[in-house]
Formats: sequence, structure tokens, C-alpha cells
Amino acid sequence: MAILPINTFPDAVLRQRAEEVADFDAALERLVSDMLDTMYDAPGVGLAANQIGLLMRVAVIDVDYEIESDEENTDPAPRKYKGKNPRVFVNPVITKRTGATPFKEGCLSVPGFYEDVKRAVEVDVTYQDIKGTTHTLHATGLLAIALQHEVDHLDGRLFVDHLSPIKRSLIQSKVKKERARGFERSKFHVEL
Ligand SMILES: [Zn+2]
Repeated sequence: MAILPINTFPDAVLRQRAEEVADFDAALERLVSDMLDTMYDAPGVGLAANQIGLLMRVAVIDVDYEIESDEENTDPAPRKYKGKNPRVFVNPVITKRTGATPFKEGCLSVPGFYEDVKRAVEVDVTYQDIKGTTHTLHATGLLAIALQHEVDHLDGRLFVDHLSPIKRSLIQSKVKKERARGFERSKFHVEL
């Protein structure tokens, strides 16, 4: 188990396109396990490999879990979770997008900022699992949003790229400033 540091905007690795994964080996299994630990620790509902500094087309998502008794968790005892449903997407490709909806998104790499982004309501995705087997998935709801957000990451795109240039540069300068003194994050928004 390893919790990895998460890169924040405007780090260059978040701007690069991740490479297709060809080796479905023990190293990939370790990476996915560490990414899940990092996502649950953050906590977030999704994490792409770019966010931990690796240019590999790997993303993890869990839109189902809840954190138990986070409020009283002031000692080093591990946090408790319920209903974990980890999903792993290797080399995901969105093949179809249907509908459009605004969704208030946050990102573990742009901590503390939440903005409406226009996303498709439903997506079809082709991806490989950790063993290299290909699957297709029709996703709706938060899973559809998360998939679009994570595939954006793998293409070097952030949710702030869907905003106006003025808003984006404002957020960039604030993130840079806050990086030095620690971020204030919201419990009431979704971070991916
Ligand atoms: Zn993100």
C-alpha cells in the first residue's frame, strides 16, 4: 500500500498525453493498487496516472463508496470506508457521447475549485482491464462524468480547459499561491 503525491495545476505532466499501456504485468498491478490507495486517501472519485506523474493511460474510478466516521478521525487510525466499488480503466477510449449537461466538477489536481463543465450525459467506453482483456461499457450518471474527466487527464486536458481563459488563469494563479500554504478543500463537491 502506497499513497502517492498528487501533481497540481499547472505542473507540466498534467499537460502531456499519456502513452498506451502494452505490458499487463506485476508492475501495472502495483501501480493500480497504489492509485486506488491514493484516490481513497485523497479522497476522490477518480484518479488518472498523469496526476501521480506517470504518462500511462491508466485511470481508476469509484463512484459508489462512502467514508464512515471521517469527522471524528483525528487520530492516526485508518479511515473506514463502506461500499467500495473500484473500477480500473486501462487504455480507455470514449467511442460515443450522448446528450449534454452542466456538472459542477472539482479535481484533485486543482484543489479547492469547483466549476460547471459541460459534459455528455452518457458515454460508451472501450477499455482494457488489468489483465489486458478488452471490455465495452455504457456509462451514465457520475460514472459517465468521471470517465470524461479521466480521459481528459490522459489526453493532457484539465476541467479548467473547459472554462474561459480569464477564469482559467485566475484559478492558476490562486492554485500556485495556495500550494505554498496548503489547500482548503470542500467536502460537498466531487473531485476526480
Ligand atoms: Zn482531475
